[in-house]
Amino acid sequence: MKILIVEDEASIAEVVSAYARREGYETVTAADGLEALEIFERDEIDLIILDLMLPKLNGEEVCRRIREKSSVPIIMLTAKSSESDVVYGLDTGANDYVSKPFSPRVLMARVRAQLRLRETRDNIASGAYAGGRIEIDPERVEIRKDGTPIPVTKSEFLIFSTLVSRPIRTWSREEIIRTALGDDYEGFDRTIDTYVKTLRKKLAEPGHENGWIKTIYGFGYRFDDEK
Ligand code: CA
Repeated sequence: MKILIVEDEASIAEVVSAYARREGYETVTAADGLEALEIFERDEIDLIILDLMLPKLNGEEVCRRIREKSSVPIIMLTAKSSESDVVYGLDTGANDYVSKPFSPRVLMARVRAQLRLRETRDNIASGAYAGGRIEIDPERVEIRKDGTPIPVTKSEFLIFSTLVSRPIRTWSREEIIRTALGDDYEGFDRTIDTYVKTLRKKLAEPGHENGWIKTIYGFGYRFDDEK
């Protein structure tokens, strides 16, 4: 995994790079927007940490140009943190937003989350399930029921998508945690039950009180692919 760090302040670039390497990622740094685009063209990049205030070409413009041809995860790193800036950053195509001053550990957790989401997206076939009533849209991180988006958190999306990805398979709580949430997950096995309960509440309807998630007593859960 290779991370492109775009940051004109050398000290910040060094800290971020050091943390990323400690996590086992390769890093390459760019000190301005144009250099960032050059490196992105040249190298195989798995994720970009992008400062907004950059010489030559600002972060928004870098983000926009990369988005024209790639869906690589982009985490914006910036001193701008008002709500409108955040919305603007996400509108230009960034996947996440971390404002300065930031904790490198938090940034790394966001990096892992984005890469995992990416991996899940690659593994999850977008498609329709339960006779076409339930749709999974990994690109938009969206679950739709009868065409209407169900508001879910990222964790809920990942858990539900994991179950749906293999409709006949029963998953233990531990497998769900490992596959959907990864090693950042700090809850207990049973916390999965809470997520499932919330998902059920959001998806349930008469005749589908379990929200298409079946409990297999003494083992775990599986997607209940009934029509
Ligand atoms: Ca800067």
